[in-house]
Amino acid sequence: MEIELASHSGFCFGVRRAMKLAFQAAKKTRLTSAAASEGGVYSLGPLIHNPQAVDELGQRGVKVIENLNQVEGGRLIIRSHGASPSVLAGARKRGLEVVDATCPLVKKVQDLAKILRDEGYTVVIVGERDHYEVKSLLSFAGKGAVVVESPDEARELEAGKRIGVLSQTTQSMENFKMVVGELALRAEEIKIFNTICEATRKRQQSTLNLARQVDLMLVLGGYESANTRRLAQVSEQTGTETHHIETAQEINLHWLKGKEKVGITAGASTPDWVIEEVMRKIKTQPLFQPSFNLSSMA
Ligand code: SF4
Repeated sequence: MEIELASHSGFCFGVRRAMKLAFQAAKKTRLTSAAASEGGVYSLGPLIHNPQAVDELGQRGVKVIENLNQVEGGRLIIRSHGASPSVLAGARKRGLEVVDATCPLVKKVQDLAKILRDEGYTVVIVGERDHYEVKSLLSFAGKGAVVVESPDEARELEAGKRIGVLSQTTQSMENFKMVVGELALRAEEIKIFNTICEATRKRQQSTLNLARQVDLMLVLGGYESANTRRLAQVSEQTGTETHHIETAQEINLHWLKGKEKVGITAGASTPDWVIEEVMRKIKTQPLFQPSFNLSSMA
């Protein structure tokens, strides 16, 4: 049995940067902990959508809070997904030092949303309405801005004169294309920015390429991670057996039965150590030994 890792997988630069800033903030807080008035280091919601990485951050002192009322003083790390201006203002008002880990690419989309709003376009964001990045984008896009998740939703949208379209950075290219196609039929004027980020595109493309060459795909990443779920969809659409898992412990050895080549891909918030553990588990299990009898797994 062969095993191959997708050419682009795991932490993207935005997530790597957010983790680094969080580790630095935690270290700074530990070093100054003598001054109790400094408070702790917090993230509003999990810093990234990966429970294993969030645990690691927790061990270093980064606490997850659900709202700003829970804290007074300390440092607040803004996630790579970004936050609304009112969250930033609220944090500063409560005496928190803001460590802005918003991905620069998400910031760019926030700026585009403002530009479209100021130019009088009705901003349409193609993405998941409950996702933090989309919520933060909406706060920059002005009144009347809407979120569209699918071509069906786009068909239900009232016709508009001037529509400005943006995408969540981790959207699938396929969905974006279909939604834009529908919107184009409903607008007198349409301005489109394809803001799907390069890291997302590369992960989707390399997942697609690999899924076409193997007979089993394992997609690694948090269940809450939008970009990981998208990789699983991309892989499933090829017809190749696909399993989305968070850790090596979830691998069911029966999946490997009779398979010649296993492909592995991982979302942009999946740490390297999770990928390595999965590779190790597969490589060290008995199916890699030529003498292994499959009936022993029954
Ligand atoms: S997926 Fe793209 S936009 Fe999102 S954090 Fe990573 S690099 Fe930034």
